[in-house]
Amino acid sequence: MTLADISEHCHNITNSYLAVTNGSELVESTQEAIRLTRYHLLEEVFSRWDPFGNQLSFSYNGGKDCQVLLILYLSCLWEFFITKTRNSQYDSQYHQFPLQFLPTVYINQAETFNTLEQSIESARERYFLSIYESPRNQTSMPEAFENYLKVHSTAKAIVIGIRYTDPFGADLCCIQETDSGWPQFMRVQPLLHWTLANVWSILLYSNEEICGLYEKGFTSIGGINSTVPNPALKIRNDDATSCGKRNPFEWEISNAYGKETPCNKVKVSKLTDADEVLLQSTGQLDFHPGWFLINDSLERAGRIRR
Ligand code: FAD
Ligand code: MG
Ligand code: MG
Repeated sequence: MTLADISEHCHNITNSYLAVTNGSELVESTQEAIRLTRYHLLEEVFSRWDPFGNQLSFSYNGGKDCQVLLILYLSCLWEFFITKTRNSQYDSQYHQFPLQFLPTVYINQAETFNTLEQSIESARERYFLSIYESPRNQTSMPEAFENYLKVHSTAKAIVIGIRYTDPFGADLCCIQETDSGWPQFMRVQPLLHWTLANVWSILLYSNEEICGLYEKGFTSIGGINSTVPNPALKIRNDDATSCGKRNPFEWEISNAYGKETPCNKVKVSKLTDADEVLLQSTGQLDFHPGWFLINDSLERAGRIRR
């Protein structure tokens, strides 16, 4: 596997999802969301900053949103490459995918679940990320990016998986400068218009491995001392009866990309022993998987202050 191979794979996942005609309104709205993100990346972002130069970086924290954005970003990278190859006067055998690793930045902020850290590690290998990792707890986020830019002085723009429904997300736009108090660079935010349900629909369809905490009822993963499984997903005694919660993504999971026979298994990373013990000792078991929740306003209901 190379970055070229995984980019082509992501392109195939995306195209396969775009070709789905199962009559689901959610799939249709997610297809619309994908088209807009692709338009942003291919027409607005890659025309301004060469994705094969070193002006663009990707911000990654192992969460579902940046994983979806990464799949779409790599898919567009592949498309950009093949379009360039086709338009060139030389035969395609003379063209090589110009990038081996994707410049990525991860700010290691607070005590993090090691399951999430391991997911970042798996993503590093699977998606060929060259990750700059800021030293844990040493700095604020703006300072951490200032340090990043000292090391990667050619970076002009950083891609972020933030959505309108995130805190302070409502007034953002796809391409904008950073605010005062932040080092100066451009923010690229091509996922703003996505709903929680859109995110789960393509992510579960992709058949890519996701962080195991999501299976345990987490819907938004922050620090270890400030995140619990989402209370809205707590399994109640009467859930065994007809009023129990339904999985909204049965179709995506059964028909996921590359599955030869439909099955209801989702690829999740294994919980680390430490996180397993933590969830057990604090009685945080018995939750439906995070993807059972599609109400954007409850996405962060598992964020607590201790
Ligand atoms: P999440 O869903 O956790 O994160 C949204 C996205 O932010 C992720 O998909 C990922 O791409 C990125 N991200 C979040 N945490 C990390 C991390 N620890 N390491 C790497 N990437 C991460 N806020 C301002 O008020 N003004 C600014 O000018 C500004 N510039 C920013 C520039 C960058 C490159 C980033 C990553 C963030 C910036 N922010 C800025 C903060 C941003 O608006 C969000 O508040 C922040 O990303 C945290 O998101 P979240 O935890 O609410 O949501
Ligand atoms: Mg998020
Ligand atoms: Mg966060």
